[in-house]
Amino acid sequence: MQELIRKLLAEMGEDPAREGLRETPKRVEKAYKFLTSGYDADIDQVLNNALFTVDYSEMVIVKDIDFYSLCEHHLLPFFGKCHVAYIPSNRVIGLSKIPRLVDVFSRRLQVQERLTNQIADTIREKILPLGVAVVMEATHLCMSMRGVEKQNSFAVTSAMIGAFRNSARTRMEFLELIKLRSAVPGVRESIPAGLACIED
Ligand SMILES: [Zn+2]
Repeated sequence: MQELIRKLLAEMGEDPAREGLRETPKRVEKAYKFLTSGYDADIDQVLNNALFTVDYSEMVIVKDIDFYSLCEHHLLPFFGKCHVAYIPSNRVIGLSKIPRLVDVFSRRLQVQERLTNQIADTIREKILPLGVAVVMEATHLCMSMRGVEKQNSFAVTSAMIGAFRNSARTRMEFLELIKLRSAVPGVRESIPAGLACIED
């Protein structure tokens, strides 16, 4: 990867040999390896020993989980907050594992919609709850830095499964509890894939 970064720097019109850039390929490689380390993660290992059988069926919410991801269209960051809720049927996930799960899927090349769905689907598969809801609010540098569609550089996506899809009351309770700072366009209906990041 380092050789590619050196070529990239030269393509940008830079001199990869100048002092400030000499160690850059090594640092960029290290950064990208970390930022895409989610590909190597094993979900079952991440959740290891943290799935519990319970007699509890109230909504579990973990909100304001910070996440940082890379948009697959531009390899630029998008980042913000993720809110997760589920209603257990008889199993729960240790609370500290939810942010770990968000990290695993964030540290890949992503689009915000898929990231949101992957988190929700994984929770559904692993504990078969009565419902799962994931809402993600993010700023996309690929849009704000490039001055494209500034009004859309903040995007909200949601995945509502089971009780959160079927019951307006359950959904509203969740949305009330997370108090989105945005106008929540994505929560009324699922928004079309790709909207969060214009592909140009
Ligand atoms: Zn992008």
